[in-house]
Amino acid sequence: MPRDFLKGVKDEYDVIVVGSGLAGMTTANVLGRAGHSVLLLEQHYKLGGMATWFKRPGGHIFDISLHGFPVGMIKSCRRYWTKELADSIVQLKNIRFDNPMFSLTTTFNRVDFTRLLISDFGITEETVNEFFDAARGMNFYDDRSMTVRELFEKYFPGREDVIRLLMEPITYANGSTLEDPALTYGIVFSNFMSKGVYTYRGGTDEMVSRMQTAMENNGVDIRIRCDVEKILVERSQIKGVEVNGRTIRSSVVVSNSNLMSTIFRMIGEEKFDADFIEEARNVRLNNSSTQVYMALGPDDHVEESTGDLLFSSTAPYFRTDALLSRDITSRTFSFYYPHARPEKRPRCLIVSSTNANYEDWANLSSEDYEESKRDLVNTTLDALEKYLPNCRQRIVHAEAATPQTFQHYTKHVLGASFGTKFEGLGVSRALPEQIRGLYHAGSVGIIMSGWLGAINYGVIVANDVDSLLFNANNSPSSAIAENGGHV
Ligand SMILES: Cc1cc2nc3c(=O)[nH]c(=O)nc-3n(C[C@H](O)[C@H](O)[C@H](O)COP(=O)(O)OP(=O)(O)OC[C@H]3O[C@@H](n4cnc5c(N)ncnc54)[C@H](O)[C@@H]3O)c2cc1C
Repeated sequence: MPRDFLKGVKDEYDVIVVGSGLAGMTTANVLGRAGHSVLLLEQHYKLGGMATWFKRPGGHIFDISLHGFPVGMIKSCRRYWTKELADSIVQLKNIRFDNPMFSLTTTFNRVDFTRLLISDFGITEETVNEFFDAARGMNFYDDRSMTVRELFEKYFPGREDVIRLLMEPITYANGSTLEDPALTYGIVFSNFMSKGVYTYRGGTDEMVSRMQTAMENNGVDIRIRCDVEKILVERSQIKGVEVNGRTIRSSVVVSNSNLMSTIFRMIGEEKFDADFIEEARNVRLNNSSTQVYMALGPDDHVEESTGDLLFSSTAPYFRTDALLSRDITSRTFSFYYPHARPEKRPRCLIVSSTNANYEDWANLSSEDYEESKRDLVNTTLDALEKYLPNCRQRIVHAEAATPQTFQHYTKHVLGASFGTKFEGLGVSRALPEQIRGLYHAGSVGIIMSGWLGAINYGVIVANDVDSLLFNANNSPSSAIAENGGHV
């Protein structure tokens, strides 16, 4: 008989969270800690969503999205998760750029970027400061008509090299382009520039396992292999979900699933106003990614001067199209040294990431798909040779992931790595106005994606839900209120 992954589940909960990405888990944890009964349903066999990992024989553990996040993660993890989690966050100090325009190493913060822009790029200190102040001063309510390109043109007209330095890492980090609103760039860039790039020491597996323990301690009922087929709505009010052939009741559902599949697949457009659906249809998905995972033999190692993160490109100029092209010229290499997982067997691993279009990988015959993956691995090894001599002889395991892979494991439409473009945020936030008790917490709109953005969005939505439940029951749940809900 097939295993019942819902065995012992209750008939009704205060809140049901659909999806265990970082936003979904954070919402569940914060609401569980505040005393609400919470059911967390995940379709995959492990928690974490895009924040995931996989193991291969020989002691190799590959991280998928643990490449770097801003310092704000420390505060968010301490407040909304545990001190233990926050204490495992450490800085990555060697960020390298190597492209036909420049090669440099930086700690990737304002002080070091100011130094580089003045000494290596010949920009005046005054202009650099004005640019940083403008980027840092941007907030969500700012004018959204200025694009990233216009922002750069204002401060660094005609300087393609400067634009590349400032933009390339952010494009890798969240798929944003020169055509996106400047404020999305300003917020994310300033978050990184405040203190540099950080990582979780211990690996994604340890972090997610600690998150699971924290949620269990806060009473969250966690179920894997539970694919929510329908979110039930009656007369514009949430009623529960249909999952694995069962109905579970709740007046609040928080979907951490892709925004578009939440609206169009799990609920159905007939449940929303026509104007809202029109707006939702116009939301653009973000791009997807390809990755190549490579492991060195147990007795081999990489010199740490090779860098932690290496933004490499052979393209003469920075162009969004080139970043997404199947003819790959740009790769971000993440180097993982044995101290990345101090408790595990010492291993050196390299993950190469490149932004990609779903369409370039969809609809291939299975032979062409496998051939394309082999080609991706081979061309990546060619590119790595410059930084890791004899890499073909030294790499003992290499395999690739494509947009299809990301779609398969997380159900993100078109394998979107960072959810939706900016306009998705407004649609996500407007859901409760359409259907009482319906919320979305997850990657949307550049600011609310990435590890920090997803966690912070999870907190914001937990606050909204807590207020709704408080008003409905008039029963205080002080835990969130004490935190003030600010992120
Ligand atoms: C290749 C790559 C590299 C990245 N690198 C970085 C990086 O270096 N730094 C950084 O900050 N961010 C990075 N990111 C982005 C970051 O990982 C994500 O933005 C973040 O993890 C998304 O969290 P989320 O809460 O939006 O949910 P997701 O991770 O998208 O998870 C959604 C969850 O919902 C589940 N689900 C979907 N539908 C259902 C259903 N019907 N029923 C039940 N469960 C369902 C899915 O299985 C999944 O677990 C990267 C992403 C990718 C793909």
